[in-house]
Amino acid sequence: MSGVNPDQSKYPDSSSNFIEKMIDLDLESGVDDGKVQLRFPPEPNGFLHIGHAKAICLNFGLAQKYQGRCNLRFDDTNPSREEQRYVDSIQEDIRWLGFEWDELCFASDYFGQLYDWATQLIRQGDAYVCDLTGDEVKEYRGTLTEVGRNSPHRDRSVEENLDLFMRMKAGEFSDGEKTLRARINMESPHIIMRDPVMYRIQRSTHHRTGDDWCIYPTYDWAHGQEDAIEGVTHSLCSLEFNNNRPLYEWFLDKIGLESVPRQTEFARLNIEYTVLSKRKLRTLVEDGHVEDWDDPRLPTLAGLRRRGYPPEVIRAFMKNIGVAKFNSTIELAILENALRDHLNRTAIRRMAVLDPLKLVIENLSEGEGKMVEAVNNPEDPSAGTRSIPFEREVWVDRDDFRMEPPRKWRRLAPDAEVRLRYGYCVKVKEVIEDPESGQVQELRCVYDPETARGQTPDGRKVRGIIHWVPASCAVELPVRLYSPLFIEPDPDNPPEGKEFTDFLNPESLVETKALCEPILKEANPGERFQLERVGYFVADQKLSSSGSPHLARIVPLKDSWAKQEKRQAGV
Ligand code: ATP
Ligand code: MG
Repeated sequence: MSGVNPDQSKYPDSSSNFIEKMIDLDLESGVDDGKVQLRFPPEPNGFLHIGHAKAICLNFGLAQKYQGRCNLRFDDTNPSREEQRYVDSIQEDIRWLGFEWDELCFASDYFGQLYDWATQLIRQGDAYVCDLTGDEVKEYRGTLTEVGRNSPHRDRSVEENLDLFMRMKAGEFSDGEKTLRARINMESPHIIMRDPVMYRIQRSTHHRTGDDWCIYPTYDWAHGQEDAIEGVTHSLCSLEFNNNRPLYEWFLDKIGLESVPRQTEFARLNIEYTVLSKRKLRTLVEDGHVEDWDDPRLPTLAGLRRRGYPPEVIRAFMKNIGVAKFNSTIELAILENALRDHLNRTAIRRMAVLDPLKLVIENLSEGEGKMVEAVNNPEDPSAGTRSIPFEREVWVDRDDFRMEPPRKWRRLAPDAEVRLRYGYCVKVKEVIEDPESGQVQELRCVYDPETARGQTPDGRKVRGIIHWVPASCAVELPVRLYSPLFIEPDPDNPPEGKEFTDFLNPESLVETKALCEPILKEANPGERFQLERVGYFVADQKLSSSGSPHLARIVPLKDSWAKQEKRQAGV
């Protein structure tokens, strides 16, 4: 069979699983002997990000669905930017997402085969050695409105080309002095078909092949051939490779293999308030805007893992958004809601106060404390309960008190009754202020001993419930509050004259402290919690050690009150 791509227009267009429908049709027609072979082909030039997770879930997910196979192939054809560190992190991240490859492959293992096929193309008159410089190649290429011009070296004899190409490989020429180019058509409406470069001379040590090679294949010359070597049936890539498809097919056709892979494009994942490109992420890391590739504010899989995202949330999110043929940007809220749903079901509840204000219960004497039972997870009875001392002095959050409460306020205010979560109802009787600053220093309250376990003796309604921690045994823990890394929803497309880094959020990381109930001190690195009414938090893997957790916010709870208050204020 020649490398002619089946007409993709016959496949249904906007359906979320147009790729599955295509595979179904292929299986029906028996085109690949019923085989489904996929691959995920990252270049090891950075850490994987959540965009790659879309491609991973798609390829590995299809292999599972069709009982096919999926390889992990490192597209390591550009040694100047590639490192073993990235090869390692990519494998770790794929496994963390819950997938295992059938075969581990490296494009660099095919360098010999690619070289042989290149000489075949030279012999067929389909490739030639060109002496034009990079700039000249560009200039000769023409534009969308202007056809290109033939290189003066285009008509070299096969013998001369073979000799020059061999000498390129042998290291007789300096970097950039010559290229091997496909001999296609300088007038093609597809600019990519205007004699594209197949090999360039580049002396840089490869992380696997060392200094064995000084010529390296370009993406276009390598990719389809790698797919063919591995018996890939469906080569799935993101939409921008649509342009490369005619060339992908041309190379396979010229090599003349029995059966060939077919390329299909799907939409890239874009998410608001972040950038999904290794190049941009690398800038953020190298210029010190973030700590490293696993900074919890980054959309890298290592960052999301450290942030506290469970892999199943990412998989569920990918399933939910589906696979389409048109690019779009997904709201950050969709990802964060998937995360909240999961954490609401699974995370243990704890109490901690970020901005403490002392509350003194005057009718409870020192030493007269009572233990109250707190539910560990209302969504999961098997998580059990714990005891917390309810005592004369407790900490509450400053934001839960208003001297002059707005309408519908359901928290602390002079003479208003609220319940301390899992404990008793209290009423503020006196407010102690700092005489100089006027700042509230202490709330003096009375509690009603008849209000244990959510009851009130007369059935009266106490509508507000706030969180608190006992003062005598509260532990102070360091806390990180993360917010989106960018202040603009679309930093990827900055206006004229601006860089994406101009839109970094200066408050994406706020370091603070919290007063916590004592049991939080035992949190293990990586453990996740809902700090009631505050948000979901994780004991940061890197910063925590046993007995001294460092808490970090995974995602806030939706604070409907802040919104309401804004609305009332007309903001
Ligand atoms: P980047 O620009 O971030 O480096 P890339 O496409 O150059 O991305 P590769 O390592 O070449 O990165 O990508 C491996 C695979 O992941 C490719 O098939 C690519 O199409 C896919 N991929 C990369 N980014 C996304 C994304 N945002 N959404 C979906 N698939 C993606
Ligand atoms: Mg790439």
